[in-house]
Amino acid sequence: MYACYRLSIAFMPHELPKTYDPSAIEPRWAEYWEKEKLFHVETPAAKTSEPTFTILLPPPNVTGNLHMGHMFEHTESDILVRWHRMRGETTLWIPGTDHAGIATQMLVERQLESEGIKRTDLGREKFVERVWEWRRLYGGNILKQMKRLGDSVDWSREYFTMNENLNRVVREVFVRLWEQGLIYRGEYIVNWCPRCLTAISDLEVVHEEQQGKLYEIRYPLVDGSGSIHITTTRPETMLGDVAVAVNPNDERYRELIGKKLRLPLMNREITIIADELANPEFGTGAVKVTPAHDPNDFVMGKRHNLSMLKIMDEHARINQNGGVYAGLDRYEARKRVLADLESQHFLVNAKDHILAIGKCQRCGTVVEPSLSMQWFLKIQPLADKAIAAVNNGHIRFTPENYKTIYLNWMNNIYDWCISRQLWWGHRIPAWYCTKSGCAQSKSDLKSRPIVSRENPSKCPDCSSAVEQETDVLDTWFSSALLPFTSLGWPEHTRDLDVFYPTSLMITGFDILFFWVARMTMMGCHFMQDMPMPDGSNRPASEAVPFRDVYIHALVRDAERQKMSKTKGNVVDPIDITDKYGTDAVRFTLASMASPGTDIAFNESRIEGYRNFANKIWNAARFMFMNIDKASEAGAWKQGNLASLVNDTYKLESSAPLVDRWIEARFQQTAHDVNAALAEYRFDEAANLVYQFFWGDLCAWYIEAVKLRSDFSGRARTQAQAALNHLVRMFEGSLRLLSPFMPFITEEIWHALWQQKEPVRSIALTRFPLGAELGRADIAAIDQMEIIQRLIEGIRNRRTDLNVAPKQKITVRIFTQASTEALINSNRDLIEQGAHVDNIEFSPESMARVPGVQTTNAYEVLVVYERKIDVAAEHNRLSKELEKQESEFIRTERQLGNEGFLAKAPATVVEGLRRRHAELEQLVSKTRVALEALEEDSASGSNGAHG
Ligand SMILES: [Zn+2]
Ligand SMILES: [Zn+2]
Repeated sequence: MYACYRLSIAFMPHELPKTYDPSAIEPRWAEYWEKEKLFHVETPAAKTSEPTFTILLPPPNVTGNLHMGHMFEHTESDILVRWHRMRGETTLWIPGTDHAGIATQMLVERQLESEGIKRTDLGREKFVERVWEWRRLYGGNILKQMKRLGDSVDWSREYFTMNENLNRVVREVFVRLWEQGLIYRGEYIVNWCPRCLTAISDLEVVHEEQQGKLYEIRYPLVDGSGSIHITTTRPETMLGDVAVAVNPNDERYRELIGKKLRLPLMNREITIIADELANPEFGTGAVKVTPAHDPNDFVMGKRHNLSMLKIMDEHARINQNGGVYAGLDRYEARKRVLADLESQHFLVNAKDHILAIGKCQRCGTVVEPSLSMQWFLKIQPLADKAIAAVNNGHIRFTPENYKTIYLNWMNNIYDWCISRQLWWGHRIPAWYCTKSGCAQSKSDLKSRPIVSRENPSKCPDCSSAVEQETDVLDTWFSSALLPFTSLGWPEHTRDLDVFYPTSLMITGFDILFFWVARMTMMGCHFMQDMPMPDGSNRPASEAVPFRDVYIHALVRDAERQKMSKTKGNVVDPIDITDKYGTDAVRFTLASMASPGTDIAFNESRIEGYRNFANKIWNAARFMFMNIDKASEAGAWKQGNLASLVNDTYKLESSAPLVDRWIEARFQQTAHDVNAALAEYRFDEAANLVYQFFWGDLCAWYIEAVKLRSDFSGRARTQAQAALNHLVRMFEGSLRLLSPFMPFITEEIWHALWQQKEPVRSIALTRFPLGAELGRADIAAIDQMEIIQRLIEGIRNRRTDLNVAPKQKITVRIFTQASTEALINSNRDLIEQGAHVDNIEFSPESMARVPGVQTTNAYEVLVVYERKIDVAAEHNRLSKELEKQESEFIRTERQLGNEGFLAKAPATVVEGLRRRHAELEQLVSKTRVALEALEEDSASGSNGAHG
């Protein structure tokens, strides 16, 4: 904790180390937040009307390490969570990890392999113990990383999808779905991974193109009247052919439909059938039908009631149905089958062909479509509710186009194969009778397994012993339930009453179908039965798992390439935060995060925001120095602070312009930041805070305060007022910045309050809401802008004229009386800001004086005794004129564009009109100056002033 205060008799100085070192700050605060349980949420009484904000962290795989995608997702989530919390809402962010069935099992298998042990050597129970052991030793890494990044989650609610209580809940869900007739067992063609020895879902198959061959094979007719040529890319599967299919509209084969063929090599009779799935454009238009090893053929097999002949085992080796090829691996079998076809003159030709290959996402093995006994969830009844939830607006998507993508997928959904042939996962709560012939034994395809909440001890039919189904559930089955199971379902808990539906789901597009769609289906289905807190029936709008879905973009490398291990362009979030500090990385990600736009992650931008953090640090040190100076002079008391940040604080209308200006800019920025965050415009919000903190507070206001920091003598009251306002603005800005840069703001905020803080963390204070600007505020901003532009103009002119930096100069200004008064009352700012020691006012326009700069508010001439370079001045004015004219034409064109006028917001159009009028005047003024210069040089006189 911050405890290095040096005690002194009169006051306690505010101390920050000289240089900003995030590595000295961040781990300390991360630990503090966790130890103090700062983000723990007590469940409020059920009948609270307080707004809540609930968000479920997409559980990373327990095997994982954080990558940049996570860091991006967590940054966006944490900004929103901290923002909502600071808005006074009861804010709950639930963390957890996923047991990640295949991924974890493979990892532990590999570990065992290195010890020379096979999974099967250990047996199921011992293996699962090993996985738990692995999880205990290594599974917490990703959580540690999250803590380091400062994720403000409620750690007391951390879940793991394989925990005991989740296992009970998963079982409850499974049994209910079974009782509702929505779960069934069936033979089905699934994607089978011969390496992982499990069925994998369509979503887990990676499709690739590969160079292969298209074979044309001759199948002779049984009656000896000829033959038909079929085309295939996988000749080895012919061993399992049960038919040949042609399109019913294909004239070439019409006569042959129904005739018998003799299957080469196998010497089996098969029939020619007609089916729409046979594509006349593909090869010869005749295709072999292998229902047990091809998804299309499976559909045809069902339609034509063909037998489903399996010719491969689980390792994709030819089985006993493959005759002499039995025992061969599928690729070896292909070679042998082709050789035999060729020698027996059945192979007609082989042409190069691009194949679409499906590979196992986990291990890269080519997937074998295979017939197997699996468990399925009848999806349509659940999908209907999930479609309605989105169509009725109970769930909203940002960016909006994901709504269409989601609905497209939902409208073409298939039954979900929920079983996996793994050992690590929720084991399916179904049992079979061990007595063969019993109706509940596994051998009978039509058998009805015993599905039960409690483990049965014997068969209810014949009292024989029972054995549990060996399959486990797809990992996504348990994670689909998280929005309600993490809040205590199936009990009707207060947590469910208060926090369900959750407010928001932030996740990546890659798991929109895996997870978001399935959570929606499960949430709508199971929560509709849970009464509302007042006992009434739950409307559909309250059954949804979340109200908003925000799909974040991808983090790519600086060249917009996808980050991948093979390309070697992966940025490790922990390395990069160690290098620049978490705050700088978070701010970089936020400043680039606009909905729907991928991020091109660039280290130079992090450097920029690391400089921003430095700037804040140095500004804080300046402020502390002033507080200490004032304390010593008796012009500051610790008690001041509380009254300054109080909402009742009002700046007097007689306060200096610069004070009223910074207050107005603060209110405006805070207001706009809130509006931007409400629409997930992280980039806009971050850039607004940046502009205010650096561009206004540091670059202008602190410079102005320096002019009023004399705490002795007559200027003391002014100095006090300036310091008060600086502290107020700075403290407010820290709170504004806190969700984006939680560490540095916590550090400075604690240093500012010096252990006398009214609350324990800046994260528990209130976020500035800002205000719509009143007329006086807008006037202050406009007036300050005149002063700022004047100072900048003079500075530029000094550079043009090569005036030495320390050389003080005189400026002559022509303007109207009100601006003259404005300039007079801000003389010190101008003199200090532009190194001016004398401001004169000209009684008449100086438009024709060479070197004069004109704006709509004033004309200003830097009086500097050096001959001006006419050519350079001519050049400058010409360029200026060109710029003004082209902008004038542009605005004129825009204002003449009906389409633009119809769509653009009124304030934009209004601003454009004003600018158009200004430009018109500026153009004519610049023309006059240019003419004057030309006349001057023609008459031989050379202006005395520059
Ligand atoms: Zn695999
Ligand atoms: Zn039995």
